[in-house]
Amino acid sequence: MSNSTKQDAVKLLDVFDPEMSGLLHREEKRQFETIGLIASENVVSPLASALEGSAFTNKNTEGYPGKRFVGGCQLADQAELLAIERVKKVFGAEHANIQSGNATIANMAVLTGLLKKGDTFLALELDNGGHLSHGAKFHYSGREFNALHYGVNKETERIDMDQIRQMALENKPKLIVTGASSYPRTIEYKAFREICDEVGAYFWVDCAHDCGLIAGGAIPSPVPYADVVTMSTQKTLRGPRGCGVILCRKELGQKIDRGVFPRLQGGPKGDMLAARGVLFQELLQPEFKEYAKQVCLNAKALASGCKDEGMRLITGGTDTHMVMLDVTPVIANGQEAETLLCSLGIITNKNMIPYDTLPPSLGSGLRIGSPTMTTRGAKEEEMYNIGRMLGRGLKNKDNPAVLDEIRQEVYKIATSHPMFSSEWVSPVIREEFEKMYCHQAY
Ligand SMILES: *Cc1c(COP(=O)(O)O)cnc(C)c1O
Repeated sequence: MSNSTKQDAVKLLDVFDPEMSGLLHREEKRQFETIGLIASENVVSPLASALEGSAFTNKNTEGYPGKRFVGGCQLADQAELLAIERVKKVFGAEHANIQSGNATIANMAVLTGLLKKGDTFLALELDNGGHLSHGAKFHYSGREFNALHYGVNKETERIDMDQIRQMALENKPKLIVTGASSYPRTIEYKAFREICDEVGAYFWVDCAHDCGLIAGGAIPSPVPYADVVTMSTQKTLRGPRGCGVILCRKELGQKIDRGVFPRLQGGPKGDMLAARGVLFQELLQPEFKEYAKQVCLNAKALASGCKDEGMRLITGGTDTHMVMLDVTPVIANGQEAETLLCSLGIITNKNMIPYDTLPPSLGSGLRIGSPTMTTRGAKEEEMYNIGRMLGRGLKNKDNPAVLDEIRQEVYKIATSHPMFSSEWVSPVIREEFEKMYCHQAY
């Protein structure tokens, strides 16, 4: 189904299933009218998602190109191989697997592909910014393997390489993973590599959050140092949701591929293989480099707006798309901050901060980020003002007149931007793109 047929089908749904299509229209309106600051979200590129739900979705593609378990896969094979070739080029990787259904599955494929049940690995503590798939007690990764966790330094709030080296020497892990869900700084990949070499461990980097910045060259790449790198596609990479990418050294390729299929999954979604291919082609364009750079500039501006309203920046700032705030100087806790901001049309999420004294259900922090608003075309000055507005909102929680003013300002800013700014689209199709996508009317 082509994209326009997809839109036509929704028109039929307005008659056949107005309940569900009504929810869709309201969700579109909600996204357009609010300022999205969730660091793990973005607005998918309409081009990268054009193949989602296309005829490739009808195809069973169980197996790998040239080794499928069903017939008729010649074109699907070409689509998958093309996508793989492109993503290897983007990141300078030797081997790529693009079949996993999300980044968490990609992570499990790494663990089950490289380790045996009960093997020890080191990872960043969940409360200090790590991800649940890095060995949290309640997660498969923590039940199946012996996960030990390092933290961040209490003073600097940064990953502490001395602590990691110490733990590695004492525990001789089979693998060390770094990468985070709520950590606003770049990571010293070279130092990790040296520790891994010293103790004979695999080095795995999970850059699900900042992979787009790496692809665009805005921050350093782990690929030259790591044995294996995993990514999501829906965060800074600005691609469709429901994908994971695994890059690795050639000699580990077979172990990783078997980890994904047959160990964890059946057939991949054929339409998503093709959609990923378009995404990777977009990553190769100069416009994506500009985008990645702008995301980082915007996060810095957002951070300084928040700071100027009295909030504390975890680690003192940001190198990436993400800003971690301690909101307790201005409001009781993260949950209260999230709820209040949501009522103003600023969408964020509460978060734990390192060595948090509040329970996870409240949290002292707020995690915010710049990817979505950058996709919508916001620049530094506006991001700075958004930071100020956010802080002003929190400080005036009992002042309905000020809150009303902010609510109107948020609406004005949000609706002055398209969902996807045409500046990120190749000049070859920009004019046509503007006609098709940039005239929002909800
Ligand atoms: C978001 C995230 C993931 C999981 O991504 P999904 O595609 O939602 O499974 C994995 N690792 C890290 C560090 C993340 O932040």
